[in-house]
Amino acid sequence: MSRFARFESRTLVRATLEMDTALSVGSRLSFKPTGTDLPVVKGPDGVPFIPGSSIKGVVRFQAERILRSADLGPDFRACDPFDDPCLSPNKGNSEKEPGETEAKYSERLWENSCTACRLFGSPWIGSRLLFKDASLRNAGDLAVVTQIRDGVGIDRDLGAAATNIKYDFETVVPGAQFDVEVIGENVELWELGFVTSIFRLWSEGHLAIGGKSTRGTGWGRLRDLVVQRVEKDEMIDYLVGGTMHPVSLDDLTGAFRSWIQSKQGASSA
Ligand SMILES: [Zn+2]
Repeated sequence: MSRFARFESRTLVRATLEMDTALSVGSRLSFKPTGTDLPVVKGPDGVPFIPGSSIKGVVRFQAERILRSADLGPDFRACDPFDDPCLSPNKGNSEKEPGETEAKYSERLWENSCTACRLFGSPWIGSRLLFKDASLRNAGDLAVVTQIRDGVGIDRDLGAAATNIKYDFETVVPGAQFDVEVIGENVELWELGFVTSIFRLWSEGHLAIGGKSTRGTGWGRLRDLVVQRVEKDEMIDYLVGGTMHPVSLDDLTGAFRSWIQSKQGASSA
């Protein structure tokens, strides 16, 4: 049975992202096509929001860096999604085999997936972390919401300003606050401890959102991080109007630490 077919738990993570610097907005004024350089878009009402995919990109990028540098065995690793994905037709491990049951197939896909793909998804398995679009919560408190800036093209290889590549880009002003929300489906406590440890890096101002971070845009801090959860045995109460129970960040960190220790114990034994 698929990991999604059973209800094990649901987790809701909420936080506020407050920008220390400006945040680039996708705009027709830019010469660049849509992509990682344009982390913010405007809704039909003209109010900018951060697409969930932009937030997910920041968290996944950090998670993969940590997974690649830690040496904790096959249950804590990240593939290279472009050059060497954990599942691929080339490896012959992504297709359903003749006579294989749906349950066996999905279990095999899971077994062969790296930690990053198990959490954030791949073409073969769904993401168990759903990042919602983050809406601007304090437009009324800001004198202006967006500003147009002059940009100078940067040659990424030389790091030098490329000549004759001048363009305007739109930014959301510093001080903007966005409502961040992530829903975890059947995510284990140690996995949440891992993900919230990345949120802690963000709360200390160490992460930037968007491709212009080298020019000082996209830096912000997550604050007011709140985690709520409902387990399998609480599901019926929850469905008839109950609430999720709060989970402390210390408990999640503790679960992650215990899990790491069990892996270190196993590898040295
Ligand atoms: Zn992978």
